[in-house]
Amino acid sequence: MRKFFLPFLALVIVVGGLFWRFSNYEAANKNNYNADILITNGEILSLDGQSNIYNPGWVEIKDGNIVGLGGGSAPKSISAKKSINASGKLVMPGLVNTHSHAAMTLLRGADDNEPFEPWLKTISAYEQKITPDDVYWGSLLAEDEMIRSGTTAFNDMYFSPDKTAQAVTEAGMRAILRVPITNQNNQLSFDQNIVSQNKNNPLITFSLAPNPFLDYSPDQLKQISDYALKNNYLVHIHFEEDPQNRTDSLAKYKLTPTQLIEQAGLLQNKIVLAHSADVNGDEMNVLGKYPNVGVSFNPKSEAKLGPSLTPVTEMLDHGVTVGIGTDGAASSNSLDMFGQINFAAYGHLKCPPRVDSSKATTTRVEAASSSDKYCANGRSIDPEKIVRMATIDGAKILGLDDKIGSLETGKQADIIILGVQKPSYDIYSTLVYNTSGEDVVGSIINGKVVMEDDKVLTINEPEVFKKVLDISEKLKK
Ligand SMILES: [Zn+2]
Repeated sequence: MRKFFLPFLALVIVVGGLFWRFSNYEAANKNNYNADILITNGEILSLDGQSNIYNPGWVEIKDGNIVGLGGGSAPKSISAKKSINASGKLVMPGLVNTHSHAAMTLLRGADDNEPFEPWLKTISAYEQKITPDDVYWGSLLAEDEMIRSGTTAFNDMYFSPDKTAQAVTEAGMRAILRVPITNQNNQLSFDQNIVSQNKNNPLITFSLAPNPFLDYSPDQLKQISDYALKNNYLVHIHFEEDPQNRTDSLAKYKLTPTQLIEQAGLLQNKIVLAHSADVNGDEMNVLGKYPNVGVSFNPKSEAKLGPSLTPVTEMLDHGVTVGIGTDGAASSNSLDMFGQINFAAYGHLKCPPRVDSSKATTTRVEAASSSDKYCANGRSIDPEKIVRMATIDGAKILGLDDKIGSLETGKQADIIILGVQKPSYDIYSTLVYNTSGEDVVGSIINGKVVMEDDKVLTINEPEVFKKVLDISEKLKK
């Protein structure tokens, strides 16, 4: 045995030494990285307060945050674990979808022809058959489509939000999901399970979504307002999507919808009013007084279902912040935010007529001059403003503008990369009039790459497509 012992000992020393050296080499190399991701050579559209564009430029990401960006070549001192060469590509903030019903991908095409009220009846009948597990698969499909088309954050409202939370966590997206409210014997209760289940996922935050809000008494709406303020939750409601909403509100409470929610204190909340298509001038005057109020404009859904669309330019004139949303795929069919932008810009984002200042009231003149800021050509909203509505303004109405919506040092890294090789006088014009979600080739959410070279890394697409097709077949029966 002794004759084997010394060679064995020598072998242990040599292998051990090599292992020690290798692990130290690894550790040393790891320590040499001072960034996680470095994007270089791209056109960087920051959408910051100064509208800075760096072309070419670079973005440095560490621990989920943007820690540096600028023009020209990246500083030599940066060494990143992952480098992305964005030569010939556009790098911009991820799009923010301010109003969605993600799992409605299960009902796409179920009823494309009816106006709002009968449509709602048809869709509700299908929804009776949707299980929590179905919501999970429908949400995953929605997230796949959103990631592919450049959305990195969405504000959702649907049944079984715990299942959407599961899908959000797997997909690596950012989302605001609703805390369920039950209303039994006029007693409200708030189901906090979704909050505790997701306390370790900082990308999920919460809303209260009392819908339809006319089903709640003024006292209950006040309780909802208080509870949301106490817990720092967003409030998210469908609002005057249809003229019937005002008629019903007046009949039930002798108040317009705006008077009702103002009296309940909800305009003090961070609140998203989805649609607000039939809001009149008096109501806009009220909404404009509350800086926390935001409106979500859902152009395709509103054009398809309703008699009216969000009066966007008038809202902006009244100082109301407007974001863009897709609504559910049962009404807008596509979750591509670039499609929404494009559709809206061509048909529905016209500026108000110019006012003859000698004849106008003071208020109208002020409104006209403020509208000039985003209606510089006097005819349609400036493309940059529309891109802002889909990014930083959307983040603002969700209360997330300190974290996302623009590319700035200190913000969280929600970034998309587009292969837009389309020579044009103006990059914002290209994004609004000549870009679709299919131009998006990469997506980073909270510093993690979720799509690269046109491939979504976090979702098993064939499995999701098959599941959703099977579920749709079941729902049709
Ligand atoms: Zn909706």
